Amino acid sequence: MASDRGPSAGDATLRRRIEPWEFEVSFDPRELSKETRLLYEIKWGKSQRIWRHSGKNTTKHVERNFIEQITSERRFHRSVSCCIIWFLSWSPCWECSEAIREFLKQHPRVTLLIYVARLFQHMDPRNRQGLRDLTHSGVTIQIMGPTEYDYCWRYFVNYAPGKEAHWPRYPPLLMKLYALELHCIILVP
Ligand SMILES: [Zn+2]
Repeated sequence: MASDRGPSAGDATLRRRIEPWEFEVSFDPRELSKETRLLYEIKWGKSQRIWRHSGKNTTKHVERNFIEQITSERRFHRSVSCCIIWFLSWSPCWECSEAIREFLKQHPRVTLLIYVARLFQHMDPRNRQGLRDLTHSGVTIQIMGPTEYDYCWRYFVNYAPGKEAHWPRYPPLLMKLYALELHCIILVP
């Protein structure tokens, strides 16, 4: 891909990319936007093909929408193995954490890795417990850092020509504080 162009016109994911402003607002660790954004990729079985898409809250939280959507796919059955990566602007609330655990229980060959830009109402003990329960169920949760912002920009954002490396540089201090807080949440027995 030439660096002086935007995402290649031949890129099948082009129409699924989000606009730069959407990415910048949704995933800014300093913003407290109401909307939750999900960028996700799915790698099916041994295939090297990666399926990328995005989602938002509707009347339901985006995590539940994802689960409903993927479980309604014809090819998605109990024995299917796949690796899912989520980039979420907010960490899951406790109710979504429960729904995710149930989904993983029903689909034991699915692995889930979650990167979050911000921790959602993280002083609420239920949300803290929800995150702990998720990690106990085998889900890896991490705070997005520069590597993830760069990655999302390149693969999920419809950046302008020549702006391939212009992913937003947010203050690293906030990412570190969120990472420390997440660490404390997860470490408490
Ligand atoms: Zn939720």
